[in-house]
Amino acid sequence: VEQYLVRIDEHQYLNVFTEVYADEALQQADAVDQKLAAGQAGRLAGMVIGIKDVLNYTGHGVRAGSRILDNFTAQFTATAIQRLLDEDVIIIGRQNCDEFAMGSSNENSAFGPVRNAADPSRVPGGSSGGSAVAVQAGLCLASIGSDTGGSVRQPAAFCGVVGLKPTYGRVSRWGLIAYASSFDCIGPIANNAEDAALLLEIMAGPDDFDSTVSSQPVSAYAQATLPERPLRIAYLRDGVESTGIDESIRKATQRKIDELRAAGHVVEPVDISLLTYLLPTYYILTTAEASSNLSRFDGVRYGYRSVSVDTSALDLLTLYKKSRTEGFGAEVRRRILLGTFALSASYYDAYYTKAQQVRRLIRQETERLFEQYDFLLSPTTPTPAFKLGEKTDDPLQMYLADIFTVQANVVGYPAISIPNGTDAEGLPIGLQLMAPPFKEGKLVALAKTL
Ligand code: GLN
Repeated sequence: VEQYLVRIDEHQYLNVFTEVYADEALQQADAVDQKLAAGQAGRLAGMVIGIKDVLNYTGHGVRAGSRILDNFTAQFTATAIQRLLDEDVIIIGRQNCDEFAMGSSNENSAFGPVRNAADPSRVPGGSSGGSAVAVQAGLCLASIGSDTGGSVRQPAAFCGVVGLKPTYGRVSRWGLIAYASSFDCIGPIANNAEDAALLLEIMAGPDDFDSTVSSQPVSAYAQATLPERPLRIAYLRDGVESTGIDESIRKATQRKIDELRAAGHVVEPVDISLLTYLLPTYYILTTAEASSNLSRFDGVRYGYRSVSVDTSALDLLTLYKKSRTEGFGAEVRRRILLGTFALSASYYDAYYTKAQQVRRLIRQETERLFEQYDFLLSPTTPTPAFKLGEKTDDPLQMYLADIFTVQANVVGYPAISIPNGTDAEGLPIGLQLMAPPFKEGKLVALAKTL
């Protein structure tokens, strides 16, 4: 803990932690030492982690990267975090992220952008940018992030670390501040697949507080093995052929494909016919869910309340409007507007219902694909980390950064991003593997061989 605290101090310019629990982490470490001496330590004894600022940890501040939660203190602990604590994990601090996990570059945080440790003029990816850089720069051993459309995998790819998004419903969402409830997944970011697997195994499983969580038994993901036969792996043709993808990424992906073939596996190109519908479907449904989820932040019940309102006039509507206008950042306001529009009476069928129908078609196409293949392989991102400010004026360009990651969330399947070398400038490249629901063990087993 002492070493990490020194490193955190030395790397302040990366803007990774929004709060460091220095004294508390040292105390936790002492307590773990005593348990170790008594032979009673949990499975994560000595593991020092950070948690994304969207996870509730009782008695600690939580902001979701937003001003709207100013001065708010968590009233309970997220189930996933409690399970880690029960195994003696040490939590060293809370990590910067895009506001309400909305973003692909960590530039939407009310606490300023996070910088990529490989090149501080570049973004770390988002929205779990702080969580990825924390592992990249060795400021903690692992991080817990959340992934609604790629927020664990895309920053992991930009930072050269491992990010694992589990099956939807594998980990309880209780205590995770909601962005889009039918997409949100808590997932680990770590230096290697084994650490990510162990953290997932401990966080996963049934929970009375989340009705969407699965009761499927949890297995020892880090110990899972691959079948004794050649694997059938599909890869996205666009991921290695499309000129829209950075050349170094296409080449790195092709090299992995060649390696897998040389190892005797069947690796074949596939096209997803609904690929062009992935991002529109994702952004219509997630903004719709977000507009509803974020309605609770009204300036009355939580955090920030506008001071420019005459409360004696009892004008509640003005209080709501001003508090929300001042408390939410531009991207969050944009998504609330988009989502509210998609859900409005006259457009509901044209947008929301339509997007739900397309979501079902995408799921069916993905299910059919996995009737023939064990895994789907692609780059994690179309480009390596871009420069800070490069895409901030163009939300559509920014949304395109998620082209390969959103499918797993639209269909609820597990996916992992692992490091796949670097480009000529030394920027990390990520490789993504997707598997059918609840096959996290297989995903980890294959990741380990790569
Ligand atoms: N970049 C995507 C978005 O902005 C994904 C975010 C996430 O997974 N939380 O919606």
